[in-house]
Amino acid sequence: MNKNKIYDYQKLLGTKNSQEVIIWAIDYFGKKNIVLSSSMGAEDQVLTDMVIRIEPGVEIFTLDTGRLPEETYNTIEETERHYNKKIEIIFPERRYIEELVNRYSPNLFYESIARRKLCCQARKVKPLKRKLSSLKAWICGLRREQALTRTGAEVIEWDENFELIKINPLIKWTEKDTWDYIYKNRVPYNKLYDKNFSSIGCEPCTRAIKNGENTRSGRWWWEDSEQKECGLHLQKSSVTKRT
Ligand code: SF4
Repeated sequence: MNKNKIYDYQKLLGTKNSQEVIIWAIDYFGKKNIVLSSSMGAEDQVLTDMVIRIEPGVEIFTLDTGRLPEETYNTIEETERHYNKKIEIIFPERRYIEELVNRYSPNLFYESIARRKLCCQARKVKPLKRKLSSLKAWICGLRREQALTRTGAEVIEWDENFELIKINPLIKWTEKDTWDYIYKNRVPYNKLYDKNFSSIGCEPCTRAIKNGENTRSGRWWWEDSEQKECGLHLQKSSVTKRT
C-alpha cells in the first residue's frame, strides 16, 4: 500500500465499526498476509473472537517472552480449546537472552529504563520483527485511552518500526466497551483481571492496580508514564496523521 493512501483509508475506516474494519483489512491484504498479534489481554481476546467469527483462517500468534505469568499460559490454552484454533507461539532467540542475562542480571529491568528496554527488545521486539518481516499488515488491540503514548494512534497506520501496515480496530473503544463485549460474547479472558490487574504483560513487570489508578499504571510502575511502552507500539515513529 502506498503510504500516501493511508490518510485516505484513515478517513474511510474512521466511519466503520471494528468488525467492518477487520473485514476490510482481511479483504484488502488477503488472509495469508495479515495476522492478529495477541498478548492474550482483554482487547486482544475481543479481536480473537471477532477475527475467528469473520475469517477463522487468519493466523493468531502470541509472544512468549519466557517471563509470562502462569495465568497467561492458561489463557492461551483456554482460548485454543474455546475456539478450536491453534495460537502460534513465538519465542525470543536464546543467544540474545543468554547474552543479556549474563552481562547484567536475570532481573535487569529493575536496574534502569535503558536495561528494561534492552530486555523488551530481546524478548519482544526482535522476535516480533522476525515474525512480521514476511507480512503486509498486523492487527493490534490498541485503544487510544489506554495510555498517553497511544493517544495519537489511528485505525490504520504505517508502522515504521516493523515496516508494515498496522490495523487498530478498537482504537476508539473504552475499557467498558471491551468488557461489555467479553461478557456478552462469553469470551475467555486472563483470570488476573479478576485480581485487579488491568493491563497484563510479563510477570515481573506487571502488578495489580488500586481503585482510581490509570489502567496502565500496573505496567513498569517504577517508570514515568511517558516511558511505558515496550517497543511494540512506538507512536513517535509511526505515520499517523496528515499534518
Ligand atoms: Fe523484560 Fe519486563 Fe519487558 Fe518482559 S516486560 S520483556 S520481563 S522488561
